[in-house]
Amino acid sequence: MSSPNTNGTGVPLIDLGPLDVVHAFWIAGMSCDGCSIAAVGATQPSVESLLLGQVPGMPTLILHHPVLSVEAGEKFMEPFYKAANNELDAPFVIICEGSIADESLAAASGGYWSGLGVEDDEEGNPQPVPSAKWVERMAPHAAAVIAMGTCATWGGIPAAVGNPTDAMGVMDFLGEEYRSTFGLPVVNLPGCAPVGDNFTELVAAVLLFLQGIGPLPAFDELGRPEWLFGETVHRGCTRAGFYEEGVFAEQYGDKECLVEVGCWGPVVQCNINKRGALNHVGGCMNVGAPCIGCTMPGFPDSFAPFYKKPPGTLVSSNSSKVYGAVIRRLREFSNSSLNRTRRWNEKGHVPSGWGHVAEPNAFAKMNNYFYKKLQHAGNVSPNRFHKTSAPVTFDESKEKEVA
Ligand code: SF4
Ligand code: SF4
Repeated sequence: MSSPNTNGTGVPLIDLGPLDVVHAFWIAGMSCDGCSIAAVGATQPSVESLLLGQVPGMPTLILHHPVLSVEAGEKFMEPFYKAANNELDAPFVIICEGSIADESLAAASGGYWSGLGVEDDEEGNPQPVPSAKWVERMAPHAAAVIAMGTCATWGGIPAAVGNPTDAMGVMDFLGEEYRSTFGLPVVNLPGCAPVGDNFTELVAAVLLFLQGIGPLPAFDELGRPEWLFGETVHRGCTRAGFYEEGVFAEQYGDKECLVEVGCWGPVVQCNINKRGALNHVGGCMNVGAPCIGCTMPGFPDSFAPFYKKPPGTLVSSNSSKVYGAVIRRLREFSNSSLNRTRRWNEKGHVPSGWGHVAEPNAFAKMNNYFYKKLQHAGNVSPNRFHKTSAPVTFDESKEKEVA
């Protein structure tokens, strides 16, 4: 790395805010535009509230987006040139969507992989400017570079085995020595597509840091926001209880754990089940889809073939089938005893007009007896003082005796 007071390319680090305005340049490489769609669907905060400066303490964001911006042509490209020449009147961040292709491979046959704007070539013919060129030009002057989505973070689908583009993530493209003018390496927000709220929350956290009023958000060793990607999908999955009790879906549409129809959730870092895909609704397993690991650097090759039982299930789900069957049975006993009032227990009958409720058999009664013994060991059992045939009283001497 170069001097600690520069960002690795000789550009001096700059001080934190307060700032009135921050520009955000959206650069699309090898992408499907799904990340843009995800971002505009965010609600907390929404892109609109960031652009209107409605979030307290935050600078107003000026977005330069190839699809969403009102300006077009030279007017649209003008701020890109200013940013590349470090002539903007305010700090800027780059948001990269899509992977960065090796443009020299395309140039060899006179083409390009992805581009933004037009410049004359050596013979005066207008040619698209590769997106990679814009990242290269602007990154040294950017306050932060955010890679949005799995293509921009790790390479994603365009970088899958056999691709002709030698596509890679922004981190690979800029190199590990890269630092922004605020001293940050590339910030990575994976997902295919990523959760929109993850993106806007990250932008808000970074802006508050740039503003000088928020701490630098915590990132893991791969530059992922630690608070968003610190846990596996499985830990937040609404179906994890089925896994624990060894009950698994056999086909799509079943309500149980999806691991045997191809879910990789136990080994994948992602928060979509807890946060929801959009406006806190949806999320893969919540809507019946197994996890195919789209947030992970190994995606897609390491998770192929999709929808096939991962080899790890041979140990993990088979073990949970064994101990889960026992635990499930014991829980069923406890659950049926908790579905009864004390009064029904004393009368030996549930007076429900909705259906017949079977009385517990001898094994269930014995199980419940020992369960309650353990539950109240060292404490006062509520049944000790309370009988339906007598008024409720509280005997202090018995309380002291127990204590
Ligand atoms: S569906 Fe996937 S993430 Fe959910 S409990 Fe099963 S294995 Fe875990
Ligand atoms: S649960 Fe899996 S497939 Fe779904 S978004 Fe997260 S990592 Fe991708």
